Amino acid sequence: HVRRSGRERSEMSLNQLSASEVSSRVRAGEFSAREMLEASLAQIRAVDGVPGSLDQKPLDPAEEQKVHAFIRLTEDLARSQADEVDRKIAAGEDPGALAGVPVSIKDIFTLQGIETTAASRILWNFKPPYTATPVQRLIDAGALILGKANLDEFTFGSSSESSAFKPAPNNPWDPSRVPGGSSGGSTASVAAEEVALSLGTDTGGSIRQPAAFCGVVGFKPTYGRVSRYGLMAFSSSLDCPGPIARNVSDAALMLQVIAGNDPKDSTSSVLQTSNYLNALKEGVKGLRVGLSPDYAHLFYPDFETGELAMESIQKEISDAVQHAASVLSDLGAEIVENVPLPNAKYSIPTYFVISRVEAASNLHRFDGVKYGYRTPVDVEDLQDLIRRTRAEGFGSEVKLRILMGMYLSSEGYAANYYQRALKVRAMIRRDFERAFDPHGEHRLDVVLTPTTATTSFKRNDVFGNTVRMQYSDQMTVSANHAGLPAVSIPGGLDADNLPIGIQFIGPDFREDLILRAGYAFEQATQGEAWRAVRPAVLRQEVAK
Ligand code: GLN
Repeated sequence: HVRRSGRERSEMSLNQLSASEVSSRVRAGEFSAREMLEASLAQIRAVDGVPGSLDQKPLDPAEEQKVHAFIRLTEDLARSQADEVDRKIAAGEDPGALAGVPVSIKDIFTLQGIETTAASRILWNFKPPYTATPVQRLIDAGALILGKANLDEFTFGSSSESSAFKPAPNNPWDPSRVPGGSSGGSTASVAAEEVALSLGTDTGGSIRQPAAFCGVVGFKPTYGRVSRYGLMAFSSSLDCPGPIARNVSDAALMLQVIAGNDPKDSTSSVLQTSNYLNALKEGVKGLRVGLSPDYAHLFYPDFETGELAMESIQKEISDAVQHAASVLSDLGAEIVENVPLPNAKYSIPTYFVISRVEAASNLHRFDGVKYGYRTPVDVEDLQDLIRRTRAEGFGSEVKLRILMGMYLSSEGYAANYYQRALKVRAMIRRDFERAFDPHGEHRLDVVLTPTTATTSFKRNDVFGNTVRMQYSDQMTVSANHAGLPAVSIPGGLDADNLPIGIQFIGPDFREDLILRAGYAFEQATQGEAWRAVRPAVLRQEVAK
């Protein structure tokens, strides 16, 4: 039995505050950014365990129960940021909208002078000479960067188990299960109350799927809404940085800070951002919310026949979606049923092709010549150096994707696969354009779907089956193909006390609409019993 001192007790409660509460109370002088930082570090020490590392030492059994959200803590950086916030407050200067808010950064974003690994051996010692734009905007807004969060290697996965830095993160709701991926360290750090916010990326679902698995809010903005400058590219036409938070208004607050044009990213939009926090208060009266039968099943290929077979999704998840629809309906939204989105079921096969081709192209730059890992053996020539470096530096999922991408884009196959995938992608987008068309049959403001077909799975259950793993993104990936904004918010718990995610998808640059829908559901369900249940690692913490 560990008795907590009064000081420790108050530190525990600081970690439960939302980002907006932290920032307003730090500005009001109720506690300092430095105190917030120390509370956050104390929580990390209590629940996180050893950070991920390349040398795979046998683990102490107690570590199995820990979260392991981080590859690297950046305590010194965070201390200097906290001191700067406290200095500004003392001097009467504006410390920014995220003053003193602890944040983790998925280790796929550059941070000047600090190792940025993409969870890959090939970048184990890479210290970038510049900072990613969304990270810089967080810093400028007074956030405290606590560390680099673990992820699937180069973001290739849906469980975070493919990280070269072990132990991979665990799910705070049940440490024998995965947090999802690829932003699994990010969502786990937010769920375990180690930080209030995290910056993730979503190419096929990597913010929303792990947010669903960890019971937090995961927000994928419209393609181009948030700069990709300083984000290591996976599939450049699909990648989106976005916020991870414990509630919808914190996601809106973080989006406000990171969104907006960046001259350093030529695909970043020049459209003005709207006021996302103000939008929350507008409610859902009259909002048209669509439900689609094409999101009621999982479509999985039969490898014998090549046919897409239908599999049902977890009943508790369909029930949660229905429940959300009725809550929104009670608040005055109009529920529009049977909206056809028939090409959504081809999203994963399409994604397999497009993402592998773009990944293979993007990963050419890692060659052991300019930076990162280089083979230690004596090499014959430059070819040999590159071949050995890549053979030793990349993990197996990365190699598989490079091989597949090279094959699919090779002469003779590109027309059959890549060109065809681009056509299907356009069809997936057209389905949504029809559903959102203000003069069309459905005139939707948002589409409501499950985020995932199942809740979190056990470690090692799916890992190794790259197709099965990919299919955890079936409900999320169409928004990437179409470039649309989408958010996953907590929608309940299943019988094993595992979080259920529900998803809202909106029209281009209408982040405000999906935030409004999510916020309205969240506020209206504050009294529901499942909201009082805490993640297992935090329950243990209290019981100690
Ligand atoms: N899980 C998907 C994949 O393996 C998505 C990854 C992502 O969104 N970055 O590619």
